[in-house]
Amino acid sequence: MADLNIQNLTKKYGQVVALNDVTLSIGSGEIVGLLGPNGAGKSTLLKIIVGILRPTSGSVVLDGIDVLKNPESAKRIIGYLPENAALYTGLTVTEFLQFVGKIRAVADSDLDSKISEALKAFDIEEKKNSLVGSLSKGTKQKVAIIASTLHEPRFLVLDEPLSGLDPKTQRFVNHWISSTAEKGVTVFLSTHNLDIAQDYASKIAIIDRGKIAAVGELNSLRKIANAKYDAKLDDVFLKLTSESS
Ligand code: ADP
Ligand code: MG
Repeated sequence: MADLNIQNLTKKYGQVVALNDVTLSIGSGEIVGLLGPNGAGKSTLLKIIVGILRPTSGSVVLDGIDVLKNPESAKRIIGYLPENAALYTGLTVTEFLQFVGKIRAVADSDLDSKISEALKAFDIEEKKNSLVGSLSKGTKQKVAIIASTLHEPRFLVLDEPLSGLDPKTQRFVNHWISSTAEKGVTVFLSTHNLDIAQDYASKIAIIDRGKIAAVGELNSLRKIANAKYDAKLDDVFLKLTSESS
């Protein structure tokens, strides 16, 4: 279990204010969906949380660990799936996962069994000796997800995990996300898939031009947006972001 507290986070890239005083907290075991138009600051926020980008100001505390002061300790309990995961295309799936497992300090005695269990769970056992570069987009994404979780993180950060996937693989990844959360892993994911956010997330954060426009369950977002009691999330989303203008 892991909880996250983000306070007054600001990130400037030169003149561009990518995040503007973001404050947000996520409870242990929650699935929180981060929604926002392109360029809203989603990837920037997630990169700061996982400790690969430094904010201009503000703090991020994960499970009592200050991510900015102790990035190494924080990284041990975090799994991160980047927006466009770069995989080593010249390695086989097994070689790549062994490499990641070693970097992540997974015990040698456990590594092979963990890899074969994961390949089975993701239904890609038959690809174990295929070169990563030869895989379909969906299989690559499954390998990237396995790579991000081999060290059994308690906190998962997924940047648009469904993007570019066919419907069957999307459904697979969705089920995997919800069953991972059921095991007690906290999940923070950015997505453009409003159905998924509506169906799986315990809470939704809407970010627009670097600011959190609203946070809550769908019902409270409907109220904030002055939307009808049965409004779908996409209507609420459009009301709360600049996409409506
Ligand atoms: P999102 O993931 O929501 O699409 P990003 O976090 O990628 O948004 O980008 C937020 C803003 O910061 C955008 O205006 C983007 O152009 C800018 N930005 C992102 N990364 C950089 C960078 N490395 N250098 C300069 N500007 C950046
Ligand atoms: Mg992004």
